Amino acid sequence: DLEHPIENEVYDELTPLLLSMESQRKEKEKNERMRREFSANVSHELKTPLTSISGYAEIMKSGLVKAEDMPGFAERIYKEASRLIVLVEDIIKLSKLDEGGVGLEHERVDLYSICEDTISRLERMAERHHVSMELNGEPVYYEGVYRVLDEMIWNICENAVKYNKDGGSVKVWVGNTLEGPKVIVKDTGIGIPQEEIERIYERFYRVDKSHSKETGGTGLGLSIVKHGAAMHQIRIKTESKVGKGTTITLLFSKNDLKSETGGSKSNPH
Ligand code: ADP
Repeated sequence: DLEHPIENEVYDELTPLLLSMESQRKEKEKNERMRREFSANVSHELKTPLTSISGYAEIMKSGLVKAEDMPGFAERIYKEASRLIVLVEDIIKLSKLDEGGVGLEHERVDLYSICEDTISRLERMAERHHVSMELNGEPVYYEGVYRVLDEMIWNICENAVKYNKDGGSVKVWVGNTLEGPKVIVKDTGIGIPQEEIERIYERFYRVDKSHSKETGGTGLGLSIVKHGAAMHQIRIKTESKVGKGTTITLLFSKNDLKSETGGSKSNPH
């Protein structure tokens, strides 16, 4: 090695550069591939409900449907159209977050009250699934985009109810820790296989493809969570055991908005 000290020096300097160029190239390729897959998935996801809608409408138009069957057909069209609306809304939200959240206003929000609102909005769904919900902790003030944080917490809590079991529970905790503010959502649901934990944050990824129609999800909820987290520099931790349940922790970066004062940035006292 010592025979060519200068060459080695140059090599030492170049290696990290070359490696970082290589990893940048790979990252770019991956993003490109994901963009292509996303477009293909969007087309498919939009086409499925649209095909049903036009099919039902065509049959109704033909005059072959008996009067008493009409409401049933209309109901199916309404359901598929509602699905489409949710899907298009999610796609719009994602593309806004894709641009890094430009134009989205940051403000002081209380994470505890977002969780409180979410739980009360989920009450009816939880009752239908025979799942109990509970919130503990304290107010935590955070500088962020209200709509995005609300959407993230809603998506995580909604999943905790949807993928739960009869008689199960969802426990939400909000508070400050030495690592920073945390929101923890713990469910006693069906759990996620270890090898799929990372994948659930991908667009349109669903563990159980066959039940996606029943649960009514778009497969975009957690990718909205992932993008919102990146925008706010929030870390996500996912722990899960099949058959036992899932715990998702949002770890917020430390900020100077103290919960005990409830004060804002401009008022440190
Ligand atoms: P979806 O609209 O299908 O709920 P998400 O992006 O919100 O889409 O979630 C992706 C997939 O991750 C879900 O389809 C489900 O298989 C799995 N998943 C998400 N949250 C949970 C949870 N709390 N318990 C079990 N599985 C979950």
